[in-house]
Amino acid sequence: MILKSGWNRRSFLSVLGAATGSLFAPRAAIAEKKEKDEKHGIDGHPIVPIKSGLGSTGDVYKELGVTPLVNIVGTVTVIGGSVMKPEVMELMRQGNQHFVLINELEVAAGRYIEKLCKTPPGYTGLVTGGVAAGIVVGYAGMLTEDLEPRLKACPDLTGFPKTEVIIQKAHRNNFDHQVRQTGVTLVEVETKEQMINAINPKTLAMHYINIQSDRGQVSGREMIEIATKANIYTFNDASADVPPKERLWEYPAQGWDFVAFSGGKDICGPQASGILIGKEKLIRWAQMNMSPQEDRIGRSSKVGKETIFALLKALELFVNQDYDAVIKSYDERAEVISKAIAKFGVTALPREFEPQALGNVTPHYSWQIDQTKLKITSQEVIHQLAETKPVGIGSLNADAGGMRGRNPDAPANQPEHHHRQQDPTKFGFAMWQLKEGEDKYIADRLVEIFSAAPKA
Ligand SMILES: *Cc1c(COP(=O)(O)O)cnc(C)c1O
Repeated sequence: MILKSGWNRRSFLSVLGAATGSLFAPRAAIAEKKEKDEKHGIDGHPIVPIKSGLGSTGDVYKELGVTPLVNIVGTVTVIGGSVMKPEVMELMRQGNQHFVLINELEVAAGRYIEKLCKTPPGYTGLVTGGVAAGIVVGYAGMLTEDLEPRLKACPDLTGFPKTEVIIQKAHRNNFDHQVRQTGVTLVEVETKEQMINAINPKTLAMHYINIQSDRGQVSGREMIEIATKANIYTFNDASADVPPKERLWEYPAQGWDFVAFSGGKDICGPQASGILIGKEKLIRWAQMNMSPQEDRIGRSSKVGKETIFALLKALELFVNQDYDAVIKSYDERAEVISKAIAKFGVTALPREFEPQALGNVTPHYSWQIDQTKLKITSQEVIHQLAETKPVGIGSLNADAGGMRGRNPDAPANQPEHHHRQQDPTKFGFAMWQLKEGEDKYIADRLVEIFSAAPKA
């Protein structure tokens, strides 16, 4: 890849039109320590009693009339992804205390990401408004470079030299919309030979969906090799693919130009955050395409200072966590449930855990119903659990997939079916996003369900 000569961080900042930090000497006096005796709540915020209006009853969900859910689905955006740890909330508060040049903060955050994620030389990080936003600004960066007319024009790619992105047919997914959003044309291929033959002077990049690695015919490594030879970029969407945390450094080290991870999944950062790791020049071009810059495709991909600080803390906690201990805590939750329902002849099956799964790596727990004792199917159990507010089970809840558009050709009132066929004697659900005490809540509800089930 030919580095554009003359590029450096300084010229980047001047292109952004950002004043340099030195214009604003740190005013320590402003950052005065808050009163020491301030009482802190569990999220680290000083407790400010809300005496009127929203939040004054202590149950803000009820005040708005929305149902809080117990998450037995996993880190899915439709129900809010994940929940931040108290330290992350605290960084959100601290990060909100001052004004700062967002571009300068992003560059500094990138340096911190370099350390946490042990990025290869020449790589840095960027905090984005989620992986979807990272895809938009990443592709926009490859397209526009640092050329002002192109930055303004994207997604109208008239006159852009390279506008095609190669993707394996088996890697098409709901998020390649964000690649297409930049105006590029996706070129689908299946075999390695087709991939090589698809390369032409208009080819900008190759897009890879890590979690679908087992579906395409061309591996990530092969794709990098082909793209490098042809001098075109590569982007690996590894959104849901940590833990294991090692992937944060292993994937960039494979040579991708960009790798993207969600901040709001199991990293447990702010819901609308993501991490883009990439070659520094490309990261700067991506940054030039996003907020706070105006007249850019990524102006809608805004990341606030609070989000940046909180994401860094979440990432720091994530890379330092003892994952064995985390798994043990999941085991303990499952144990609470197993013990409660054993008396109905419902037995815990051996935990399934594939630490090298491609994504959403977490232990799976399931239970077996003894049909000689109880006349209830696993589908009925899950259905009843789903109908129990506030327990949410994504695939059964009406809004599980988010709001979908109407198919004008479909017969009226035909519900969308996306139920998986399962063994009627086995049921299971996700344990990893439960909050403290919710294992007991589910155990109690299962006891009610099994108590009411007809005996065989
Ligand atoms: C979740 C997900 C995304 C979107 O990530 P956000 O951080 O929610 O924007 C993109 N690609 C894949 C494969 C995902 O699983």
